[in-house]
Amino acid sequence: MTIQWFPGHMAKARREVTEQLKMVDVVFELVDARIPLSSRNPMIDDIIKQKPRVIILNKKDMSKQSETDKWMQYFKNQGFFPVQIDSKHGKHLGELMKAAQAATKEKFDREKSKGLRPRAIRAMIVGIPNVGKSTLINKLAKKSIAKTGNTPGVTKKQQWIKVGKELELLDTPGILWPKFEDQAIGKKLSLTGAIKDSIVHLDEVAIYGLNFLIDHDPEKLQKFYQIELAGDDEVVDLFDQIGKRRGMLKRGNEIDYESVTELIIRDLRNAKIGNYCFDIYDEMKDGLYETKEH
Ligand code: GDP
Repeated sequence: MTIQWFPGHMAKARREVTEQLKMVDVVFELVDARIPLSSRNPMIDDIIKQKPRVIILNKKDMSKQSETDKWMQYFKNQGFFPVQIDSKHGKHLGELMKAAQAATKEKFDREKSKGLRPRAIRAMIVGIPNVGKSTLINKLAKKSIAKTGNTPGVTKKQQWIKVGKELELLDTPGILWPKFEDQAIGKKLSLTGAIKDSIVHLDEVAIYGLNFLIDHDPEKLQKFYQIELAGDDEVVDLFDQIGKRRGMLKRGNEIDYESVTELIIRDLRNAKIGNYCFDIYDEMKDGLYETKEH
């Protein structure tokens, strides 16, 4: 799904989430495990405030495990309850339930000590577009409820989905806007399919992707496209090599750069070349702890 965000949309999205927050015990903040930081809404801590939060690193099947583990630890250190799951194939949903229980334990213990009857945990999902909110809702509901491709600002009657005896989930996810301000984040969002192709320059995204592979997995890059890295290659030389290998040529035997660009982006988005996490913890960690506490 792609959305053009205007300030009005953002204000409305925020208002809606703030309203829904009152109804839940815990928030499931969904992020893309391939970009656990870059796929977060920039104001998420301001919006969610002190409400217990499970951070769900979704699409774990497409990310690099060792990086995902580092981000899990990071979120844990921040006082959140992180889990890594694969919504598409319904994997690790049990861990999500356990995290929801851990996140709400204090509140439920308090209720119990006041003599209140045990009840299901109430939760809602929030996140930027395309992180897998609808997919997760449908998996938890075991049927198709949330339409993939819903738009912010389109209000509909909310309902609770019963997930076993212990969880009730709002059937409408809170859709929040992504980070826009940073060029690198924009490219990562594009590489994972979170933002509209026309917002970013695709050639820059493909170059970013190729440079990432040169730095982090040059062997796979060479093997996958059957190309040779000479060490002093300009990244554009690689476009030529890939274009020739794949026969992506225009009339006059010129390389069809548009097709090569699309190919590289598609292969990265679909994790065809390998499983990558584009937010690299060790490269980002210095800036992390300067941000304010939630
Ligand atoms: P939403 O905009 O946040 O509701 O995202 P969707 O639920 O529409 O999912 C966006 C895309 O990501 C769809 O093509 C899903 O099939 C895919 N997707 C969602 N979760 C996963 C996952 O855990 N693994 C993989 N590989 N794909 C996923």
